[in-house]
Amino acid sequence: MINLVWYRNDLRLHDHEPIFRALQQDAQVIPVYCFDPRHFSTTSFGFPKTGAFRGQFLLESVADLRHSLKQLGSNLIVRYGLPEDVIPQLARQFNIKAVFCHHEVTAEEVAVEKALQDALLMLGIPLKTFWGATLYYPDDLPFGIDQLPELFSKFRKQVEKAVVVRNVFPTPVQLPKLAEVDVGQLPSLETLGLSAPLLDDRAVLMFKGGENAGQSRLHDYFWAKDCLKDYKQTRNGMLGADYSSKLSPWLALGCLSPRWIYEQVQAYESERVRNDSTYWLIFELLWRDFFRFICAKHGDRIFYRTGLQRLMIAWQEDWPRFQRWQAGKTGFPLVDANMRELAVTGFMSNRGRQNVASFLTKNLGINWQMGAEWFESQLIDYDVCSNWGNWNYAAGVGNDARGFRYFNMLKQSSMYDPTGDYIRHWLPELMQIPGDKVHQPEKLTMEEQKRYQCQLGIDYPRPVVDFFKSIKSNERRYNSAFTS
Ligand SMILES: Cc1cc2nc3c(=O)[nH]c(=O)nc-3n(C[C@H](O)[C@H](O)[C@H](O)COP(=O)(O)OP(=O)(O)OC[C@H]3O[C@@H](n4cnc5c(N)ncnc54)[C@H](O)[C@@H]3O)c2cc1C
Repeated sequence: MINLVWYRNDLRLHDHEPIFRALQQDAQVIPVYCFDPRHFSTTSFGFPKTGAFRGQFLLESVADLRHSLKQLGSNLIVRYGLPEDVIPQLARQFNIKAVFCHHEVTAEEVAVEKALQDALLMLGIPLKTFWGATLYYPDDLPFGIDQLPELFSKFRKQVEKAVVVRNVFPTPVQLPKLAEVDVGQLPSLETLGLSAPLLDDRAVLMFKGGENAGQSRLHDYFWAKDCLKDYKQTRNGMLGADYSSKLSPWLALGCLSPRWIYEQVQAYESERVRNDSTYWLIFELLWRDFFRFICAKHGDRIFYRTGLQRLMIAWQEDWPRFQRWQAGKTGFPLVDANMRELAVTGFMSNRGRQNVASFLTKNLGINWQMGAEWFESQLIDYDVCSNWGNWNYAAGVGNDARGFRYFNMLKQSSMYDPTGDYIRHWLPELMQIPGDKVHQPEKLTMEEQKRYQCQLGIDYPRPVVDFFKSIKSNERRYNSAFTS
C-alpha cells in the first residue's frame, strides 16, 4: 500500500499528523511538494504575491525538508505546477491508496484543496485532511467555530479554562525507501520570477528557512541565551535579534509546530523558570490561533474592503502617498524606519507593524487592503490569517468593536525608541541628529539642519500630513460609516 503526503505550509517532520497517519499499517509513503505558480503571480494591487525574502526562505525550507527525509531513507518529490494536476498524476503513476495533507482555512487554499479532492475522486482516491497549524484543535474548543467569540479576550479566557493542548505526534525515525522516480529539482529563485534578496547586515536576524534552522533559533532564544524569561519586558522592542522570539517565519511555513513550541515552553518552565514572560509567549500564540479560527468562521470576509464589521468607509487609493509609505519617505521617522526595514529585510517588529498600519489607515486614510497586500508581498513571515486578521484590526474594520483608535507616532517613538537608536539605525540621513531630536526632524532650525547635515525637504522629507489634522479628518470619515 502506498500513500501520498502532500506538503503545504507544514514543512516539517515533527508533530505532523498526515505523515504519522500515512505511515500506519506499514504503508509506503511518497512525500510531495508543489511550487504552485499561483503563489508567484501578483496581488490585486499588482505586488508580487511572494516577494524575494519569503521566496528564498521557502526554497531553503523545502531543501531542508528534503534533506531530513533523505536522512530517514526517503526523499521529497518536488514539482512546479498546480497541486490539483500534479498530485492526481503521481497518484495514478504509483497506484496511491490515499492522499494525506493538512487542512487550510482561507479561500485560495481551500479552493485548491477542493479542486484536488474532486480530481482524486474521479480516480477513486480519498483526500484525508488534518488540522495542525494551531495550538488548539477546533474539536477541543468549548464552542463550535460558528459560535467563536468575536473578541480575543473572551476567546482566550474560555479556551484557557477549558482546553488542554494536545501532545505532539511522534517524529518518524525511519521512512520506507522511495520507489524509482524522478524526484525533481528545486526551482531557482529566478525560475520563480524572483531575484536573490540582497542581505543587509542591519537586519534583526539572518533568517534561514527550514525545520532545523527554526529549531536552532528556538534553542538559541530559549536555552542558550535564556531570553524567554524576559520576553514580556522586551517584546515591544524594535532593534536586535532577541527582543522577541522571531519564530514567526518558521511558524508561517509550518517548519515549527506551535504545539512543539508549547512543549518547549513547558520544559523551560520546569527546568529554568515559570513567570509572566513564559506565559506571554503562549498568550501571543493564542492570537495566532484566534485569527485562524476567525478566518475559519468568516470565510472570505477577512479580505473584503469593508472587513469583518462590514463598514463602508470611504478609503482613498492615493498612490503617490502610498508609495511614500512603502518607501519609508513620509517624514515620520518611526514609520519610515520601519518601512525601510521591511523593504530591505522582509521583517518588522510587532510594534512597528501596529504603528505603520495605524499611520496608513488613520493618518493617510488609505485603503487598508493595499497595506495588507504590501505586507503579503514583503513579509518573510507572511501568514494569511495573522496578516489579514491584524490588518482588519488595525484599520478598525475587524472584530474588535472599539471604534477609531490610532497610534500617536511621536509618543510611540519616544516610548519605544527613547534614544532614537532604532530610527538612526534605519535612516542614515538622520544619523547625525542627536538624542530625541531625531523623533521630530521637522522641528530642526536651519542652523541645526546644517550642523546635522540633514536639510529638510532635500535629505529627509517634511511630514506628508499634519498628524492631528489628518487624524481628525480620517476620524470623521470613519465615523460617517456608522451614520450613512
Ligand atoms: C498589521 C500586522 C500584520 C501582521 N502580519 C503578520 C503575518 O503576516 N504573519 C505573522 O506571523 N504575524 C503577523 N503579525 C503579528 C506579529 O507582528 C508577528 O507575529 C510578530 O511580530 C513576529 O515576531 P516574533 O516571532 O518575534 O513574535 P513574538 O513576539 O516572539 O511572538 C511569538 C509568536 O506569537 C505569534 N504572534 C505574536 N503576535 C501576534 C499577533 N498580533 N497576531 C498573530 N500572531 C501573533 C507569532 O506566531 C509569533 O511568532 C502582524 C501584525 C500586524 C500588526
